[in-house]
Amino acid sequence: MAQARKALSKTAAKKSGGRASARASVKTYHNYIGGEWVAASSGEYFENANPADTRDVVGRFPVSTVDDVSRAVEAARTAADRWGKTPAPRRAELLFRLGEILIRHKDAYAADMTREMGKVLKETGGDVQEAIDCTYYTAGEGRRLHGFTTPAEMPNKFAMCVRQPVGLCGLVTPWNFPMAIPSWKLIPALVCGNTVVIKPAEDTPLSTFNLVKACEAAGIPPGVVNLVTGYGETAGRALVEHRNVRLISFTGSTETGRVVASACADRNAICSLEMGGKNVIIVMEDADLDLAVEGAVWGAFGTSGQRCTASSRLVVHKKVYKQFAKKLVERALSLRVGDGADANVDMGPVINADAVHKIMGYIEVGEREDGARLACGGNRLEKGEHAHGYFIEPTVFTDVEADMRIAQEEIFGPVTCVIPASDLEEAIEIGNGVRYGLSASIYTADVNRAFRAMNEMYTGIFYVNSSTIGAEVHLPFGGTKGTGNGHREAGTQVLDIFTEWKSVYVDYSGKLQRAQIDEVNFE
Ligand code: NAD
Repeated sequence: MAQARKALSKTAAKKSGGRASARASVKTYHNYIGGEWVAASSGEYFENANPADTRDVVGRFPVSTVDDVSRAVEAARTAADRWGKTPAPRRAELLFRLGEILIRHKDAYAADMTREMGKVLKETGGDVQEAIDCTYYTAGEGRRLHGFTTPAEMPNKFAMCVRQPVGLCGLVTPWNFPMAIPSWKLIPALVCGNTVVIKPAEDTPLSTFNLVKACEAAGIPPGVVNLVTGYGETAGRALVEHRNVRLISFTGSTETGRVVASACADRNAICSLEMGGKNVIIVMEDADLDLAVEGAVWGAFGTSGQRCTASSRLVVHKKVYKQFAKKLVERALSLRVGDGADANVDMGPVINADAVHKIMGYIEVGEREDGARLACGGNRLEKGEHAHGYFIEPTVFTDVEADMRIAQEEIFGPVTCVIPASDLEEAIEIGNGVRYGLSASIYTADVNRAFRAMNEMYTGIFYVNSSTIGAEVHLPFGGTKGTGNGHREAGTQVLDIFTEWKSVYVDYSGKLQRAQIDEVNFE
């Protein structure tokens, strides 16, 4: 996949590259290792093109090798002891400074992000805001990082638990939230006293570059944060397999996550995974249909459907099914597709040529499914303002059955499936009938049904009368089944990823006391 993206970037660059002056103005970026901005040892660069217009090359980024990753790991190892011993409230002070820098540059970062990954400016502003929220919220943990005390079973003995840093963390991130997701990992890792090497997705290195540059400006010491850009199969793999990296925090596809988990298992590294989703909105017959349609449109077509929490299945009670589908199609047809930098655009492009190929492939699969009906969309847009980008129409399939491939597999594009259900029980069964377990929602006016669905949907996130997207940083984020491996990011729960517990016993009895063996005298 990454090699295909590489070819894509080169193609994109060639499209613009006939014009030498345009090429000369393309900015070259570097890795950040041990506090220095350095080229990759390969001397090679990949080009990052704007998915709304591939003639626009955003920048050239280092193709990092195993050697570059090793140097970054060594820098993080050298910095680990000092940073780990810096009092957490002091570490947090630098993070608050980072938060201020992010606020100051929010608009510029959002514009860069729209240019490199396509989503509309309002959404990229939200992405940067999420990084800001995460920074302030998690930096606050510098003055908490709570452990606990508990009674010991012997007299004159004290028992407590404290958190300690994990050590050196490798962070591997996807392209769809190119500043928010790196921040969800980076900020907790730092406040907990770890040093990091981060490898961003090859399609969106600029947003992570901006975040790391802001860390430098905030005064985070050299070696504490290191950035290596490049391809998953080389740089990502080298990081995941490096014997000195104690923890890998990965967000991406379930397929890559499996490879990452197995590499971590081989060397007994800690591994937290956030992976794919096939999320569901359940619409009951008593729901406010207009509200449900708005939620479905936002959930299915926000970020061009490229969210792990995208509303890719809409399970609708048969009594309101036709009405809902009609309203949904009307709204989908009204969405304006184009360059996310244009304030009048509702939905931007998809990320790259591979994504177009995959999504159009699923649309063909849907059209072939016996019974499913393509109710709107289904085409790539390639003329006029769309001629040089990766645009796909908002697409709705109706009369979908729960076991069809389009209702089971993560499409990760602007495609949603409407599935009829006879009652709540069936809707919940359909909702749970996929291999993922990230987000689910119900639209209903009946509190009993809302609570029943909340209780019975086996997902990490659940909404009532709201879409499947819109997580907030102070609540845990993650999923069950094929979406995760039991960890949660965000909230205070993320601290359990980036710290290890140490149980401490202090015996002040002045004699040998043997737990589980010595009798306690009750007299
Ligand atoms: P991806 O799995 O292709 O890539 C993710 C990252 O892994 C990239 O940085 C990539 O370079 C790297 N990588 C690829 N192969 C690797 C290897 N062998 N070893 C180490 N690293 C490797 O995913 P993507 O296309 O960037 O992102 C889309 C996926 O991410 C979707 O499935 C989406 O649902 C998921 N996602 C999940 C969440 C969540 O929190 N659950 C959030 C956002 C995205």
